[in-house]
Amino acid sequence: MAIEKLPPQLANQIAAGEVVERPASVIKELVENSLDAGATRVDIEIDRGGSKLIRIRDNGAGIPKEELALALSRHATSKLKSLDDLEAIMSFGFRGEALASISSVSRLTLTSKTADQSEAWQAKAEGTEMAVQILPAAHPVGTTIDAVDLFFNTPARRRFLKSDKTEFTHIDEWLKRIALVRRDIHFTLKHNGKSVRNYRPANTETQYLQRLGQVCGKAFAETCLHINCNHNDLALTGYLQAPSSASGYAETQYFYVNGRLVKDRLVNHAVRQAFSEYADGVSPGYVLMLELDPYQVDVNVHPAKHEVRFHQSRYVHDYILQALQSAMLQSAELALAPQHE
Ligand code: ADP
Ligand code: MG
Repeated sequence: MAIEKLPPQLANQIAAGEVVERPASVIKELVENSLDAGATRVDIEIDRGGSKLIRIRDNGAGIPKEELALALSRHATSKLKSLDDLEAIMSFGFRGEALASISSVSRLTLTSKTADQSEAWQAKAEGTEMAVQILPAAHPVGTTIDAVDLFFNTPARRRFLKSDKTEFTHIDEWLKRIALVRRDIHFTLKHNGKSVRNYRPANTETQYLQRLGQVCGKAFAETCLHINCNHNDLALTGYLQAPSSASGYAETQYFYVNGRLVKDRLVNHAVRQAFSEYADGVSPGYVLMLELDPYQVDVNVHPAKHEVRFHQSRYVHDYILQALQSAMLQSAELALAPQHE
């Protein structure tokens, strides 16, 4: 066969294989874009587990009319200019692939208005060349993206979708993860026209414990230990299952590094080690947020960005271990302290 350049739609569909696995991954990409755009409220609406409709509406900065077509094209991003930026990336996005990928495997419309525009505009990319059409629309400042009929044109991938209920569960779980760390954001979720989640902004500790209860269950929220450790160049905050609770909370294990949820054996190991003195063998629950200099950690390890690499992993591990141990020791001392009359 002769060498030919792939038509844009096909190239995007191939790239979509990496980032768009199922409705939950579409929602992840779109909501992260809303957060990158400074939204304080994000409303998610899905029909049939997201396979029929995914709609994300935000009140972020919006996309200027003249950038709508670019936003839909591949390798177009407003978040990264050079390889140096990648070293210290703070935004969720940076590959400029999500919108192009999603729009190549669904019927996507993008509607947006910026504060200094008097009108809103709607864009969609169609056909193998992904030609972009732009029409006037009605929309407040912010952005709404509709992705309809996910994988309608890639039947092999469509067949991989599970039941609506399973797809919903993936979405719900992802929303929990983001709701725990973005306490400032009001998130709502509607499924088949029915409101199923409403995470109100949690700017005070009391409000946050409420959100923690919504996400991790009341029992966890009411008994957990608070972690708040901040010295040298690291800060670890969050919540740890009380060592006295009999069972583990294996489904409540959330670890964030600079606001990103990551899977990391390091933290699991540190938590288990801290627990081993009290309750050996349990898989404890935790919601922990680690903040450190972005130059001390690589986030660009994996396309889905679930993994990170610490430059000084031993140091980070020991820091977490000590923070947990001292919180546990403190709570044990409190429990043992003589009760004052
Ligand atoms: P990335 O997030 O990696 O930059 P995307 O394909 O997800 O790539 O988005 C492309 C660009 O479109 C973003 O860089 C941003 O400028 C713009 N954009 C996408 N979604 C939104 C949104 N909800 N609000 C404002 N701008 C957006
Ligand atoms: Mg993005």
